[in-house]
Parts: sequence; structure tokens; C-alpha cells
Amino acid sequence: MDKEIRKTIARLKEEKDAVILAHYYVDDLVQEIADYVGDSYYLAELATRVPQKTILFCGVSFMGESAKLLNEDKTVVMADADADCPMAHMAEVSRIREVREQYPDVAVVCYVNSTARIKAESDVCVTSSNAVRIVSKLPNPDIFFIPDENLGRYVAGQLPEKRFIFNDGFCHVHREIAAGDLISAKELHPDALVLTHPECTQEVLALSDFIGSTSQIIDFATQSDHNEFLVCTENGIFYELCQKNPGKKFYPVSQHQCCPNMKRIRVESVLRALETLEPAVSLDCELSEKARLPLKRMLELAK
Ligand code: SF4
Repeated sequence: MDKEIRKTIARLKEEKDAVILAHYYVDDLVQEIADYVGDSYYLAELATRVPQKTILFCGVSFMGESAKLLNEDKTVVMADADADCPMAHMAEVSRIREVREQYPDVAVVCYVNSTARIKAESDVCVTSSNAVRIVSKLPNPDIFFIPDENLGRYVAGQLPEKRFIFNDGFCHVHREIAAGDLISAKELHPDALVLTHPECTQEVLALSDFIGSTSQIIDFATQSDHNEFLVCTENGIFYELCQKNPGKKFYPVSQHQCCPNMKRIRVESVLRALETLEPAVSLDCELSEKARLPLKRMLELAK
């Protein structure tokens, strides 16, 4: 990358007392300039520990909201105002209330990939890396898992003692990774292990050797003695996989493993956001109070 851009970013970060956090799914160049790169859980937890007064978030809007909910006093700036996750909106408040009436002992478990409005109606948040552990610690026999149905079904498969109610939300990127494409990719690379994110369909999960969050996939591949892997998640993960494992081979299973919202974020938008500190995340006080509780409960239970 251009040395001048690096120098400008370093200067602006110092002037604005800012730290850049980026998700594994953003463009390689953005991951390169970030101070920290990680998955949703790592970034949410890290946001509570960084000393800088400004957090510049390279990810979709629910991630910035979570960082703001956990850091009321800090300025949280999004690298791109329009980078939004469609799945984050795929749960209805009216449906949550209806389920609560129908199942009085239910715990509403909300994947962090959700808006603050949906979190505010929930009992606890989870990420793909801690969902099984956190749900297993809940005393409630009934679990309403929102918004992602695939992740909910994966968690339910690990916890047969709980009764799950599912919601029909989905991530279009993971849902479009087809079992047929994976079977063809396996024929092309018969020695490769299949590493899959639990937002994929049950058919794809059934064909996989390892299922985990993005950071768990990276750790698994890095620690594995194997040299070839087929990867079923968004293609931004290949940057970190290749950085950590220069001698290993990683293959996508289709040409569609790309999140258009994550890929909106460019180095130019990071520079602009650092210069202007806009758009800053701002949330209604009452909503924040309610939405913060399930996030904090997740951090407590994940300890
Ligand atoms: S990859 Fe899926 S879950 Fe992640 S931001 Fe994109 S649409 Fe949302």
C-alpha cells in the first residue's frame, strides 16, 4: 500500500486518539491498515478494553452499535454509513413478544448480528463462537433463537436437552454456499478438509470436517497438520488464513462467497471517516439501556 496513505492514517489516528477495528470479512487492504482484526465476539470484547477515545469500525452497522452500547463515553465512527447486514433486521419485535407470551420460561437468545432494537427485546446475546457455551449455561428450558435460523439449528443440534423455537432469518452469503458446489469442490480437491461457518445450511454443515466461527476456522487451520482446506464462509477470511499459513492452500467452494456490505468499506472511506469522525453511531438512551443488558450478559457468561 502507498506509504503516504499509511503515514496519513497514522497521523490522523494519533491526532484523533483513534483505533481502527476491522472484521475478517472486509477488503484485504482495510484489514492491512486496521489495528485489530477479528470476528464479532473478539471485536465486541476488545471494544471494552481499548484505551483510545475514538473507535473507527470497519464492519457493518450492528457491529458499530455493539461497540457504542459497550462504550457509552467513546465516539464510535463507522467507516461506511451504508454498510448494513440484512440479517440483522430479520426478527420482528411483535413475534418476540408473542413467543414470550406463548412460552413463559423462554430465553430470547439473540445473535450479535442484530440491530439494537432487536437486542433490546432479548435476554442474552451470543456470537457464533460462544453460542453453544452460553445457551448451555442458561437455566431456561425453551430457547427462542433470533435472527439466524441456520445458526440456531446448529446450536440446537449440540444441545438436545433444550427446546428450540426458530426464526426464519438468514445470511444470504452463507445460505448461498450450496451443498452441490461443495460436493464438486471436494471432487476437485479430495485431500482438502472442509471448514464451515455455522450460518451455512444444514446440508453444507453435514459435509464439513470442522464447524466454527471465523476465528475458530483460522485457529483450526493454523493448528492443523493438514495442508489443504475448502472454506465455507465469506472470502475476506482468506487474507488472515494466508497470512498465518503461507505454506497451506485454501480454496473457496463457489464464486459467490462475498458480502457486498462488508466489501463497501475501502481504504478511502476509512481515511474520510478518520478525517471527519463521521458518521458517528448515535443511539436513543432508552433503547441503549435495554440493548446493553443482553450484550453485557453475554460478556459475563463468556468469561
Ligand atoms: S456476511 Fe452475512 S451475516 Fe455477515 S454482514 Fe454479510 S450478510 Fe450479514
